[in-house]
Amino acid sequence: MNVPCVTCAMAGGSCCLNRQIILTTGDIERISQFVGTREFYTMEAPESWYLEPSYDPDWLPLVMKPGNVLRVLKRNREKNCEMLTDKGCRLPFSIRPLICQLHPYMHTEKGILGVDESCPISKEKESNAILEQLDMPLVKAREWQKKLYLELNSERNGMAAR
Ligand code: SF4
Ligand code: SF4
Repeated sequence: MNVPCVTCAMAGGSCCLNRQIILTTGDIERISQFVGTREFYTMEAPESWYLEPSYDPDWLPLVMKPGNVLRVLKRNREKNCEMLTDKGCRLPFSIRPLICQLHPYMHTEKGILGVDESCPISKEKESNAILEQLDMPLVKAREWQKKLYLELNSERNGMAAR
């Protein structure tokens, strides 16, 4: 079965390019233990796409930090994720940010909405089988989604209590 990620990456269309990858506190702990440093993230103003009408309006308030900035993985000058190498992501799947583990599933706090239409997998008849082949079945995506919102909410509630 053809997995579109290979074609996508060769065409320069990988989902690791030109994104703001939001990090939870759990992501930071996991990644820092793996890479041996905490110098892999930065604070940035949100990109304009968060304000598009189709974007989940609850997302930005959930991830925004004091000073109206987001905590995201660093990117290079071309805006590609700094964890991206010629051979793909340098992080093993289970270490990656929850947002990356969830991609290409679309999600809100209520659950998984489907596969992102900008991802070629969504156009495949056998998209579910491809995602299973990538070891990303819907059942696992639901677990990552729950963990993501649990971590984001607990950090936000902790900040509000300070
Ligand atoms: S998940 Fe989708 S967008 Fe990302 S590399 Fe694979 S096919 Fe491309
Ligand atoms: S952490 Fe890995 S999977 Fe996530 S955007 Fe960066 S290179 Fe891609």
